[in-house]
Amino acid sequence: MSAAGHATSDADTGTFKGLRVTNTLSRAKEDFVPISDENVRMYVCGPTVYDFAHIGNARPVIVFDVLFRLLRHLYGTDHVTYARNITDVDDKINARALRDHPDLPLNEAIAKVTEKTTNQFHADIARLGCLEPTHEPRATAHIGGMVAMIEILIDKGNAYVAGGEVLFDTTSMTDYGCLSKRNLDEQKAGARIAVEAHKKNPGDFVLWKLSSDEEPGWESPWGRGRPGWHIECSVMSEHHLGKVFDIHGGGLDLIFPHHENEIAQSCCAHGTQKMSNYWMHNGFLQVEGRKMSKSEGNFFTIHELLDSENFGGRKWPGEVLRLAMLMTHYREPIDFSIKRLEEAERLLAKWPEPVATDAAPSEAFLEALNDDLNTVAAVQVLHQLAGEAAQSADKLAVYSASAAVLGVRPVTADMSALDIASIDARVAERLEQLKAKNWAEADRIRDSLAAEGIVLKDGKDAQTGERVTTWEVKR
Ligand code: AMP
Ligand code: ZN
Repeated sequence: MSAAGHATSDADTGTFKGLRVTNTLSRAKEDFVPISDENVRMYVCGPTVYDFAHIGNARPVIVFDVLFRLLRHLYGTDHVTYARNITDVDDKINARALRDHPDLPLNEAIAKVTEKTTNQFHADIARLGCLEPTHEPRATAHIGGMVAMIEILIDKGNAYVAGGEVLFDTTSMTDYGCLSKRNLDEQKAGARIAVEAHKKNPGDFVLWKLSSDEEPGWESPWGRGRPGWHIECSVMSEHHLGKVFDIHGGGLDLIFPHHENEIAQSCCAHGTQKMSNYWMHNGFLQVEGRKMSKSEGNFFTIHELLDSENFGGRKWPGEVLRLAMLMTHYREPIDFSIKRLEEAERLLAKWPEPVATDAAPSEAFLEALNDDLNTVAAVQVLHQLAGEAAQSADKLAVYSASAAVLGVRPVTADMSALDIASIDARVAERLEQLKAKNWAEADRIRDSLAAEGIVLKDGKDAQTGERVTTWEVKR
C-alpha cells in the first residue's frame, strides 16, 4: 500500500501509511503515525554558517530530503512542513569574522561571514538535488523567543543564573537522558573536565551567556548576551512546528548533548512528555574509518568536490554525490572513497533520463523506502526499473516517478527545451482537479512538475477573484 491510504479529516488522528522508522527514543523500528495527516511536521538541525559545508554535513541534508519527498508522496505535497534552521550566532562565527575581516566592525564582519556561507550552502545543496525546506529560520531572528523560553525555565525552577550565565539544571528533570540513555551518575563518573565552579552539576548547560562589548549580544533580563546553541532549536522548532511535532532529525553526534538538551528545554518549558515523537539519526560519513570533520582536517567541502579537482583529480557531478550517499543505509557509516563515487556514476550512466509523469512510483520501490528509508534496496529496484524503462511508455513513467521520490536524475529544466504547451496543459488539468476537490491528484501533478523544476504559484485574479496559477522555472 502506498499513497492510497485512508485519508482522514480528523485533525488529530494521523494515519499509518506503511512507513516504518527507527526511533532513537526506543532504539526500535516503529510504525510512523503522524499527529495529523493534514500537517506532518519535521525538524532537522541545520548548519552553523561559519565555513563551507563538507560532504559529511551533506549527509543529513540528503537523507532528510529523501524522507521529506517520501512524506510528501504519502501524505500530499501541501501536508508536510519541514523546518531546517540556520545557526547564525556562534563563537566559531565570531572567530571567523575577526580572522577574515579584521578591518570591519564585528557586526558587519559577522554579517559578511554568515551571508556568504549561507549562500554557498544553498547553492551546494541545490546541486545535490535537495528541495528547499518549508521554513529555514535563522537563530538571530528568534532571540526574543529564546529569552522568553529561558524566563519560563527560570520561573519553573529548571534554570538558574550563575557566573554571568543562565544554566539549565539537569537534576530538575527526572527524565533527563531519555534519548541518549545516559543517566546523571554516568555523566559524573565520565566527566573528564573539572566542574566549572559556578555550575550546580557537571552536566548543566548554558542557555544564555553574557557578551563582552566586542562580542555580539542582545539585551536580556540577565544583561547583554547571546544564546547557547541548544535553546535555538527548541525555540525555532516550536515557532514553526508547535510544542510537540512528528520527526526530529540530525546526525548521530547530535544525540548527546544537543538533542538531549533540546528535549530538556522544550519539555520543561511546555510541560510536555515529548518534544518530537520520532527521533532519527544518520550515521557518519567517514574517511578511512574516521568521521569526516573540520577538527580532524580530513574533510572535502561540497563545493570543492563539485567544482575543483581535489578529490580523485576530477570534478564530481551533484547527482553522483547524491546517489553515492544513498547507496548506504542512512544509519550505517559510509566510507567516502573514489571507488564509491565511480560506482554511483556507472549506475547513473545506465539509467535513462526520466520523463515528466503523473504516474505512481513502483510498489516495490515504495516498500523499500517505507522500510526505515532503505535507500539501498530502493536504488536496486530503481536500477531494475531503469533496465525495463525502454520496453514501454508506462514502464518509463513508473521508473521516472520512482526516481523523483529519491530525487536522483532530476529532469533539468532548460528553458530552451521546455515544452511550454505541455506544462500549461498540466497546470490547467491541476486546476480542474482542485475544482473537483481531487486533492491527491492535484498534488501529484504539482509534484511531478516540481520534480522538473517547475514551481507553481497559486493566486487570485485581482479583478475577477478567479483562482490563477502561474509557474516559474527554478534552478
Ligand atoms: P555541524 O556543522 O558539525 O554542526 O554538523 C551539521 C550536521 O551535519 C549535523 O546534523 C551533524 O550531525 C552532521 N554531520 C557532521 N559531520 C558528519 C559526518 N562526518 N557524517 C555525517 N553527518 C555529519
Ligand atoms: Zn538543533
